[in-house]
Amino acid sequence: MPPVQQQHVQQHAPASEGWSPPVDNHVHTEWSWDAPREASMVRSCEQALAAGLPGVAFTDHLDFTTWTDGDQIGAENLDPHRYTRMHLLDLPGYLATLDDCRQRYPELRIFSGVEIGEAHLWAASAAAMLAPAGVDRILGSLHAIPCDGRLTAADDLFRRMPAADVMRRYFAELVRLVEGSDFFQVLAHLDFPRRMWPQAAGPYEEPAFEAEYRAVLRALAASDRILEVNTKSPLASAELLRWWREAGGRAVSFGSDAHQPWRVGDKFKLAVDVVEAAGFRAGRDRFDFWRR
Ligand SMILES: [Zn+2]
Ligand SMILES: [Zn+2]
Repeated sequence: MPPVQQQHVQQHAPASEGWSPPVDNHVHTEWSWDAPREASMVRSCEQALAAGLPGVAFTDHLDFTTWTDGDQIGAENLDPHRYTRMHLLDLPGYLATLDDCRQRYPELRIFSGVEIGEAHLWAASAAAMLAPAGVDRILGSLHAIPCDGRLTAADDLFRRMPAADVMRRYFAELVRLVEGSDFFQVLAHLDFPRRMWPQAAGPYEEPAFEAEYRAVLRALAASDRILEVNTKSPLASAELLRWWREAGGRAVSFGSDAHQPWRVGDKFKLAVDVVEAAGFRAGRDRFDFWRR
């Protein structure tokens, strides 16, 4: 872990204390299948305003469990049921709530969005769902990878193989996601299984997977897309963000990945410090991604 992660930094420091927080580009609400009922979009807007954020993107989960013609998952004949509770996003319901929030909170910039799981396997389904509506922010995520004929959730994998093997297989599939889908704009939580890294495997060390991280970052930069700094995951180090620059990466997005309103903008001061240390600065305006 880099030393910066051990520092104590006040969470949710308001903008009046001399810094300007970025937009939170990754927030879940009651419309996500894995969010609790208390995860209301209205309360998340209120939290965003209280934290001094200029804007918030509601990126509820868009996960598919049945495929259609043109989805790669059908060609690979994988069982898609990686989580039992999963259900499809009610996009019209979500958009109606979003419109209501835009009217209630005109002082907050509210972006529409989705977080698509395993977009490279669901290209046709994703296009059919989003082409008519269109959203402002599309996050690409990998929560599960093919294993023994099944799309298998990251937490299951640690029960099946050594921890380092889980990460290597995950990063290899992540390259497939980035190269196999141009549907998303921002790559979310690029080392997602790290959240579940078993204690028995010792501390998680980014440098142990430097080659794998760099392969993902090269693929993402080659398509001129955006890397997310996710503050629900263990925070990326400034060194990792330097790998992103060296790969040609030009922009960074901040995301709390909140599934509860109180987490909107969580640990953003710390994340901003890390991103600045790697040479990225606020973009064109307060609503933009951060750029080099
Ligand atoms: Zn996610
Ligand atoms: Zn998320």
